[in-house]
Amino acid sequence: MINFFEARKKVLSHAVSLSSFRLPFTDALGFVLAEDIHTKENIPRFDFSAVDGFAVNSRDLLNVTNKKPVALSLLGTIQAGDSTIAALRPQMAMKILTGAPIPKNTDAVVMQEFVEQDNNQIRFFHSIESGENIRRAGQEFQKGKIVLPNGAVINPPIIGLLATIGKTTVRVYRKPRVAIIVTGNELVSPSARISRGKIRDANSSTLASALMRLGITPVFSARVQDDITATQKAIASALNKSDVVLTVGGVSVGEYDFVKTALEHLNVSPVFWRVAIKPGKPNFFGTKGKKLVFGLPGNPVAVLVSFELFVKPALRKMMGYTITEPMQLKATLSVSLRKKAGRMEFVRGVFSTNENGVFVIPAKGQESHMLGGLAVANCLIHFPQDEEYIPEGNVVTITVLHW
Ligand code: AMP
Ligand code: MG
Repeated sequence: MINFFEARKKVLSHAVSLSSFRLPFTDALGFVLAEDIHTKENIPRFDFSAVDGFAVNSRDLLNVTNKKPVALSLLGTIQAGDSTIAALRPQMAMKILTGAPIPKNTDAVVMQEFVEQDNNQIRFFHSIESGENIRRAGQEFQKGKIVLPNGAVINPPIIGLLATIGKTTVRVYRKPRVAIIVTGNELVSPSARISRGKIRDANSSTLASALMRLGITPVFSARVQDDITATQKAIASALNKSDVVLTVGGVSVGEYDFVKTALEHLNVSPVFWRVAIKPGKPNFFGTKGKKLVFGLPGNPVAVLVSFELFVKPALRKMMGYTITEPMQLKATLSVSLRKKAGRMEFVRGVFSTNENGVFVIPAKGQESHMLGGLAVANCLIHFPQDEEYIPEGNVVTITVLHW
């Protein structure tokens, strides 16, 4: 049985970023840039005022103090958006609003709170340093310079930067097409009438919603009986339509577990089956050409934990992410933990922070069918494979859950 770290390494080594395409920048949220973005203009585009105030030449206010104020005459007003602007003249000031272009012969803007206005006379009570309250052209990005690198995940500020530089289409990596197949005679749709011995299928919707968080809508979703023909048929169509196939359940050693046999018939090459983790031991991972197949176990908690630990990093890599693995932190354990050696355990945990650091406790409901425990958890506590006891107060690694 392979250990967790080797298993994740293997998954990531088979996942590669997909092809790229162009799309309007406003549709690009959540995609990853597949090109470096350069600006053809200085950003800011021109010198402008950072405040509402008065454009001055600092030389006209040399040695001005509270006791020795100076009055300059008002030459006019410059508003944001104005394009023809007169130059400032000596011994004069211009009213200027935030975002308005700086007139010629001006090297500072005095905030309006610091002056007194008497009709056309503006009285100043302080000297000012050259450059004050002026935002300079090219201060953030000079013309031709790189603004965003290939691999940046497009978020709202990035959309704003693209708007700022007028880059209205961008090249991004395609997102993987993902199929979901759940298996089990016991499963019925959550909305269907339910009878004895049946359970409602939770995994189709947990996986679909976990994918949705990555901006991926499943291209195919099926629920099949524990039947080799039905299972194989569903997986074959899923493989046709998608880059990644997620099967759920039927991958263990039970008599009615047909997923592995079906995958074998479909020439999916196995990379691993069974990982020394809890929950999620029966995990299968294989490939068919460039397509990835995850045979996830059936228990709802194992499904989501496996999704976070293996599937999501692979999907992120295919989407062009440079950081593919979930965030890890160190936290102080607020209780002691026990288990048997042999499998690495991902204890569903709740971490919180206070002035002394990060603290973590296990969530209530640790069995692999108990979604309630995972529902309140915000992290997975790493309980290393060969350890049996972690005393209270020890520092542990946690994987932050970010559904
Ligand atoms: P299996 O891996 O098929 O042996 O399933 C393990 C456990 O998970 C069994 O108790 C199943 O009934 C349960 N299970 C499998 N698939 C689902 C599902 N889609 N929703 C809820 N529970 C499931
Ligand atoms: Mg089953």
